[in-house]
Amino acid sequence: MSKITVRSVDRVFRKGEREVVALKDVTFDIKEGESFGILGPSGAGKTTLLRIMAGLDVPTKGEVYFGDKIAAKDGKLLLEPKDRDIGFVFQTWALYPNMSGYDNIAFPLKNMNLDSQEIHKRVSDIANTLGITQVLDHYPREMSGGQMQRVALARALVKMPSTLFLDEPFTNLDARIRDGARALVKEITKKFNITTVIVSHDPADIFGVAERVGVLDRGYMVQIGSPTQVYDSPVSVTVANLIGEINELQVAVASEEKKLTIGKLSLDLPPGLSGSKVIIGIRPEDVIASREPLQISGLELLDKARFSILSYQGGHFRLTLELKSDNQQIFTYVDQPIKGDEYYVYVRKEKIKIFSS
Ligand code: ADP
Ligand code: MG
Repeated sequence: MSKITVRSVDRVFRKGEREVVALKDVTFDIKEGESFGILGPSGAGKTTLLRIMAGLDVPTKGEVYFGDKIAAKDGKLLLEPKDRDIGFVFQTWALYPNMSGYDNIAFPLKNMNLDSQEIHKRVSDIANTLGITQVLDHYPREMSGGQMQRVALARALVKMPSTLFLDEPFTNLDARIRDGARALVKEITKKFNITTVIVSHDPADIFGVAERVGVLDRGYMVQIGSPTQVYDSPVSVTVANLIGEINELQVAVASEEKKLTIGKLSLDLPPGLSGSKVIIGIRPEDVIASREPLQISGLELLDKARFSILSYQGGHFRLTLELKSDNQQIFTYVDQPIKGDEYYVYVRKEKIKIFSS
């Protein structure tokens, strides 16, 4: 059964004379127990969509269901957030600055008529699970970013909600602890079978936490699939770039032949594409640069190339080359700097993506 159903949702904000369309005709389902990611650039409508699912905002048009209950319809809130059994972690964590870690976490339990022993047990249990027992008597200003983030997570989880909403929860964390934080969210939500919705602009958050992803672009849900499906078969250049790095090469289409030629490589024009030009997308891991000719099954020669830029990226190098046939650039990552001026550039042909331009 679907846990959350979003049907034809629009959200229009009015700013004086001006209208901002934050969401347009958004339709999708999230299944019971699933971890669903929403990926999109800043301003795409991610926070608005999450707030609408949580009941903190209402769709201007369209419907939201929680299980089989209608939760909002055409500008009306029909199920209060408190009746949705949810936890919410805000991007800024929004801890109460004048409360200790303990009181922040205990806050959602206030109106539940629990005795102080039961509250103590629940706060201790979740603090223990998240490894923050030692900061329960600290105020937020006395905590590190990672501790504040886990206190915010503990506050959202202390009622053991059936659904957890996370708005860019890792964006304000130091890069070195993000992976651990992602793994912790994944582990806890799986352990307690919590339906999880995470929104982020960072594909690493989606790969770290989500089983399925919806890509939001300027208010439209443009693709839904598993993270690997979206990575391997993005529907557009925009989606391809949102979910990872990609080389974009402009290629002219030979008018009658339905063939694309770039350098030494020839590709069939996919059905449904037309026009005099297309863009081909090649992920950097599908590009192999070599000083010598290679004979490796699965690799085809794209072109010869000239050296352009080599930059150290911590542990590996980003190598940018200029294709000989038409001066377009292509980049890949290499473990060791390859010295020289001239290269052979090979690609995994079956991994090449072709988009209309
Ligand atoms: P994201 O979280 O993906 O960055 P948001 O959902 O915050 O995007 O915003 C989507 C669009 O809606 C943006 O253009 C934003 O300026 C606009 N928007 C969001 N909230 C409001 C509001 N309360 N009033 C007016 N415009 C808003
Ligand atoms: Mg946002």
